[in-house]
Amino acid sequence: YTGKTGSQLLTEKIKKIQVDDYKSIPVVVQENTSVYDAICTMFLEDVGTLFVVNKNTHLVGVLSRKDLLRASLGRQDLAEIPVNIIMTRMPNITVCSNDDLLIEVANKLIEKQIDALPVVKEEGEGLEVIGRITKTNITKVLVDLAKNEVI
Ligand code: ADP
Repeated sequence: YTGKTGSQLLTEKIKKIQVDDYKSIPVVVQENTSVYDAICTMFLEDVGTLFVVNKNTHLVGVLSRKDLLRASLGRQDLAEIPVNIIMTRMPNITVCSNDDLLIEVANKLIEKQIDALPVVKEEGEGLEVIGRITKTNITKVLVDLAKNEVI
């Protein structure tokens, strides 16, 4: 018997959970995609954040729901505006990798007041998007912990 309290055991469990254990599939669009098409993709794929990639499939930007709403307030033709003029762009994108601790990613979501992070891995000169962590993934961890389903 280790003499550890319940909460110490819980803390230990939480600190073992990695991004790879809970990540979702990312939804990406090309940087020359129109704002109109990005809005359609967001609805069809049922996600709140889109990641933007260039021709080399390297991460160049992020599009949130509000980024697209803001762009829709103007009088411009949304089919004519490419997403790369309204997205949040590199190097200002907060990212994570497969072996990061999920609790650290949760902390980044709170600190930066954002809903999602791309999971990336280095690929040549850039970053390849291999997953997505959102507040929903973090909520799933909480539910699994309560059900005692985390090993
Ligand atoms: P919303 O804007 O719909 O509330 P967010 O809170 O996720 O959604 O996004 C707030 C702002 O932060 C947006 O302008 C968005 O482009 C940007 N953003 C979202 N995710 C990231 C990220 N991982 N790194 C940097 N900026 C981000």
